[in-house]
Amino acid sequence: MNLAELSAVVSDEAKAFELVERLRWPNGPVCPHCGATSRAGRLPAQRTKPSKKHPEGKSVYGLWKCYACRRQFTVRVGSIFEDSPIPLSKWLLAIHLMCSSKKGISSNQIKRELGVSYQTAWFLTHRIRLAMTVDPLKSLLGQDGGIVEIDETFVGGKVVNNMHHDKTKAAGRKTIVMTLVDRQGDALGVVVPDTSKETLEAVAKPIVDRSATIMTDGNPIYANLDDYFRGHHAVDHDKRFVRAMIIHTNFAESYHSLLKRGLIGAFHHVSAEHLHRYVNEFSFRWNSRKESDGERTERAIRSGAGRRLTYRPLIGR
Ligand SMILES: [Zn+2]
Repeated sequence: MNLAELSAVVSDEAKAFELVERLRWPNGPVCPHCGATSRAGRLPAQRTKPSKKHPEGKSVYGLWKCYACRRQFTVRVGSIFEDSPIPLSKWLLAIHLMCSSKKGISSNQIKRELGVSYQTAWFLTHRIRLAMTVDPLKSLLGQDGGIVEIDETFVGGKVVNNMHHDKTKAAGRKTIVMTLVDRQGDALGVVVPDTSKETLEAVAKPIVDRSATIMTDGNPIYANLDDYFRGHHAVDHDKRFVRAMIIHTNFAESYHSLLKRGLIGAFHHVSAEHLHRYVNEFSFRWNSRKESDGERTERAIRSGAGRRLTYRPLIGR
């Protein structure tokens, strides 16, 4: 998808539906009710009954009728777009903005670009982050004897950076992000409760291949990783390899600096309970770094299928 295609899509709701349908249903419509494939017919755009807010009625796009179960559906059903009153074209614009900005984009800016309320923008961005969630079990990091860097960093905790009413309570409370980067492939950031050896191993063992060689700093929590993985080198200790430019955690450090610049620049305050969602967003962009903004946008639209996030769990009620 290039910019011309994107602008056509964001100004035309019918085209927005066509784009999402093409991405989600490459082989034709799939009924979300009964699973029938290619047995649905497109219904013409319809209008809702006039209401106070919409005296002329509202256009309803993207309706299909399943010939197998006789029920109607749209491509929104069973995706992050389901049950949302926001036009699909605005969703696509928001996804594109999030996919094309390297350090991320704040809900405030989404609010201005889309002309929606802050609450709507905030919910929208969190749903999109859900679509961006990296599935760690799809493929292990460091497969076939690869190199995986593991590093931890502390984020947040500054009084000026949080919006908690009780500044003293929230102050100084930093959150730990542990990052695992396959030098040839994907990265995964994980919010962890502490930096104990047990936590590190509980995170790393299920997602890193045993044939991998691990690079870390000299923190003692990383000691003896070569009992489990093929090898382990710590930056501070193996000076001769450092000289050979093999032992470093530069990838993990770049990931952290990008994450931190994003959190400072675009997000200002991120409470600990939502941090993992932002970290997902950064991992998603990192893992698609070789793709164009358009390709990344399409990937996010595709992976919005099968994921839903309702407002209630998001605000912790
Ligand atoms: Zn059906």
